[in-house]
Amino acid sequence: MSTRRAEPYFFDHGAQYFTARTQAFQDFIQPLIDLGIIGRWNPRYVKFNSNQVVQRSNWIDQEPRYVGIPGMNQVANYLAVPIDIRLNTRIITLEHKKRWQLTDDKGQHYKDFDWVVSTAPSPQSAELLPPYFKYHADISAIEMGACFSLMLGFKQGLALDFEAAHIINSDLSWIALNSHKPGRENNHTLMVHSSEQYAEAHIDDDSEAVMHHLINETNFITGHDVSAANYKTIHGWRYANNVKLQSHPTFLDQEHRLAACGDWCFGGRVEGAFTSAYHLANALKEKVL
Ligand SMILES: Cc1cc2nc3c(=O)[nH]c(=O)nc-3n(C[C@H](O)[C@H](O)[C@H](O)COP(=O)(O)OP(=O)(O)OC[C@H]3O[C@@H](n4cnc5c(N)ncnc54)[C@H](O)[C@@H]3O)c2cc1C
Repeated sequence: MSTRRAEPYFFDHGAQYFTARTQAFQDFIQPLIDLGIIGRWNPRYVKFNSNQVVQRSNWIDQEPRYVGIPGMNQVANYLAVPIDIRLNTRIITLEHKKRWQLTDDKGQHYKDFDWVVSTAPSPQSAELLPPYFKYHADISAIEMGACFSLMLGFKQGLALDFEAAHIINSDLSWIALNSHKPGRENNHTLMVHSSEQYAEAHIDDDSEAVMHHLINETNFITGHDVSAANYKTIHGWRYANNVKLQSHPTFLDQEHRLAACGDWCFGGRVEGAFTSAYHLANALKEKVL
């Protein structure tokens, strides 16, 4: 749930919106809705098959799609306030010496943890957690797919007849007028996602070439020349999608006091990340506390 700032523009370049289909998640987000940190996004929606519109609807008539306000990252910013978090810290080893000791990539140690719960994507959790973690083979087998995010900022708004679009049979999968979401009205921004298939094939390619291709594809789909944007950048996500949208039981190894959760345990997506953590937290409370 990331937000990229490039004044005067800002972009939700990861998750675009989220649903709340379970009672537990609805109860969890309600206080944030009341505070104005989360709100509904009601775009005009189209589905494209290549550059042909095959479906139109208004999300105001459908189940709520939620966003953070004024950016997706506002949700985590708010939730993080009472928690002791070390930012920009990449943990590379875990060692058990009576308790768990973590070491980061600069050699800094973090000591005396009873439990370690990894919420990194499945390939990174598999790299981090020791081979004797009870579920190591299970999490190693969970694949995640890549995605490119193309961010375009304009001085003037684009005259599109939709604000959100899914695209099939294309190297693109999603186009959104990011600035249409609540709290973002003053900067004209377009957010484009590649298809997973395209990103998997090109994740290590030259980023200028990828950007050029995705801009051309956006022109083809929308019928507008977006190459005139006065801000353009691209971000490659190596682990964006849970490829098979699998659901798994909780990965909790009581013997070694290790656990793992994340959207990849529960069908992908923001609500899946919550649900996975919710199940794990309840299991920890039941078995451990
Ligand atoms: C391009 C894109 C579009 C998406 N669109 C949507 C959408 O529209 N709707 C939706 O519901 N979901 C969407 N998602 C999915 C959604 O973003 C995820 O489901 C959700 O953010 C997962 O949360 P998480 O906490 O499980 O994992 P993440 O948000 O991936 O967080 C994992 C964290 O672990 C950190 N980490 C990894 N390794 C280490 C390490 N060794 N040491 C320390 N930290 C580490 C990472 O830096 C990261 O901050 C999208 C994702 C992407 C990438």
